[in-house]
Amino acid sequence: MDADIIVIGASPAGMMAARNAFLKGANVILIDKKARLGHPPHPANTFFKGMFDKTGEKISKEYIIKELKGAHIVAPSGEEVIIETPGYILNRTKFDEYYEKKLRNTGLNLLMGIEAYNVLKTDNIFSVSTSSGVLHSKIVIVSDGINSKIAGLLGLKTMKYPNDIGWAMEADVEANGIGESDMFEYYVGSVAPGWKSTYSPRGGDSATLGVYVRRHGTDVSKFFDAWVEKFKRIKGLDEIKIIQRYVGGDPIVSIPNQIVADGIMITGGAAGHSGIGYSMRAGQICGDVAAEAVEKGDVSAKTLSEYKKQWNREFRTEYYLGRIALETLRKMTDSEINKLMETFKTQDLSFLHGSSFDKAMQVFLFMLKKNPTSLLSYRALFRNK
Ligand SMILES: Cc1cc2nc3c(=O)[nH]c(=O)nc-3n(C[C@H](O)[C@H](O)[C@H](O)COP(=O)(O)OP(=O)(O)OC[C@H]3O[C@@H](n4cnc5c(N)ncnc54)[C@H](O)[C@@H]3O)c2cc1C
Repeated sequence: MDADIIVIGASPAGMMAARNAFLKGANVILIDKKARLGHPPHPANTFFKGMFDKTGEKISKEYIIKELKGAHIVAPSGEEVIIETPGYILNRTKFDEYYEKKLRNTGLNLLMGIEAYNVLKTDNIFSVSTSSGVLHSKIVIVSDGINSKIAGLLGLKTMKYPNDIGWAMEADVEANGIGESDMFEYYVGSVAPGWKSTYSPRGGDSATLGVYVRRHGTDVSKFFDAWVEKFKRIKGLDEIKIIQRYVGGDPIVSIPNQIVADGIMITGGAAGHSGIGYSMRAGQICGDVAAEAVEKGDVSAKTLSEYKKQWNREFRTEYYLGRIALETLRKMTDSEINKLMETFKTQDLSFLHGSSFDKAMQVFLFMLKKNPTSLLSYRALFRNK
């Protein structure tokens, strides 16, 4: 046996799973096929405080490029809903290196430049075949990202709605003063067919523009090019220079499904956990449960399903409410979105508090009071689209 637990993929979730399991006493090996973490950087480079606080981790200036005051949600009419909440633009390479250093300081065995090819089980021992030979363990944690090859080989349907992955193209761009704003912007409706377009200011002349598209295939470059043109018109910019493009998938509405089997746990994008903060928290739960199972000497699916139960307690309602909201938005017409936004325009939403369900109820009551007919916009959810 090489380790109690082998973690495949040093994604944010994988790093947290490995660290938590190791700190709880398990013998852990974390492998990643990249030669160096953060090289090339993952495109995910923004988070909001509320989301990251779920991890219990401190935010460090070491990897922050710019602090944001919040986000604007922009309707096709140009009306905006303003959400004031601290946000952070990351240097993603430095973020990954920060966590790599923290992990190495614990004494955890992190092996870079090793790719897992397959996972086989014989007599309750896993053999992970890799580019550097075969490694053996009692548990395998799979955190190899949204296109998880290993979860596929294991025959697991890790997401309930895999067809709803948001396929994305983002690019670092440059233009005069484009990075100076301190608000993130989400655009919805026809400017972002299928889901959303984003603008993320990085300071000075630098920003990130992105499109996230669902149900239009994985090549979303046409949507991206259209977004850049539209953005130029909105901001009155003559020229935007594309520095570097990134592509990938975001599983935000895919909903985690089969994320545990005998001796196997899936976490992060591979499990339909979306966003840096949410993925990290899922990884923490995963690592804690894995270490407890090793200590008990029982790595059955029944024992490991405590991971799914805990995740359900913390996030299930929020993920389902998010899915309902984003599906409704995807199916709404521009004029329905404009009307809905009108209800929230100039409204300070800081009164929202409590659990995600409580917040959804508060939004419902607010709409009922301010503009009851706006609730009709939710009919869109039942459209066959
Ligand atoms: C374009 C884009 C922008 C996004 N922006 C944001 C954002 O700003 N903020 C946010 O919170 N979320 C963002 N997201 C969502 C975010 O990507 C994910 O939720 C989050 O980063 C989770 O990462 P992951 O689990 O998918 O794994 P990844 O970060 O993709 O990590 C997987 C790791 O596994 C390794 N690996 C893969 N296969 C193997 C193998 N066989 N053997 C060994 N190692 C392997 C890879 O090298 C990699 O290091 C964005 C998504 C996309 C597509």
